[in-house]
Amino acid sequence: MVASDLDRTLIYSAAALELTMPDTRAPRLLCVETYDHRPLSYMTEEAAALLAALAGQAVFVPATTRTPEQYRRVRLPGPPPRYAVCANGGHLLVDGESDPEWRQRVRERLTECAPLAQVRDHMLGRARPEWLLKERVADGLFAYLVVERALLPDTWVKELAAWAGPQGWSVSLQGRKIYAVPHPLTKSAAVAEVARRAGTARTLAAGDSLLDADLLRAADVAWRPAHGELADSGWQLSHVRVVPERGVLAGEAILRLMRSAVITQPGAVAPVPD
Ligand SMILES: [Mg+2]
Repeated sequence: MVASDLDRTLIYSAAALELTMPDTRAPRLLCVETYDHRPLSYMTEEAAALLAALAGQAVFVPATTRTPEQYRRVRLPGPPPRYAVCANGGHLLVDGESDPEWRQRVRERLTECAPLAQVRDHMLGRARPEWLLKERVADGLFAYLVVERALLPDTWVKELAAWAGPQGWSVSLQGRKIYAVPHPLTKSAAVAEVARRAGTARTLAAGDSLLDADLLRAADVAWRPAHGELADSGWQLSHVRVVPERGVLAGEAILRLMRSAVITQPGAVAPVPD
């Protein structure tokens, strides 16, 4: 099985592309998400071909913090994934539909930490109108703010994280979004459930943010890009490899390495006939 984060791991908004090469050598891009009638997320054409091939050779599981609604806007190359993890593990989509049994199991575990309303109130009480652009609750599971990064005080996220930890919540800063997510809500738990249902023995994973750390830790082999929260914090484990690329080219590099890993481990995944 291949389980991967989407945003800033496989797909990139224009602001995250990091096209630092000469314009004449920039990769051709495929738009994989449209929002409000405008193009929003991209992968390189080469990455798109690699993902389509990979999805034919392994159980490919998108594992995202996006809500199911936000996930459904993403039109990944290749066959539609049978399983997808959304809302950081709060939803397990099976053939596009949220599995009610999984949802129930997750909600039961959330009673172990501080209630969402309390964490949201704390976040909003400390946010400043000068830099707070939007505030959202995702499916009654977790909260996030959209902020103006240039005006956000350096210590704000660190202070929020220090308060949230003892409440049983994690904080993650990704681009313009600050997430507060309860500890029991993890991508790795949902991905383990997919492994059980799909009967896979080996998991490859990729991700870029603190909310991906548990997913990478639980995998047999994992990759992270040279950009993002994990890179910024120097996070490392022996089975987690770092690709040197940044931006959209890192997504392509990760897919190339995943594809090689799948091909060189015959029997590790169920072969799909052509
Ligand atoms: Mg990400």
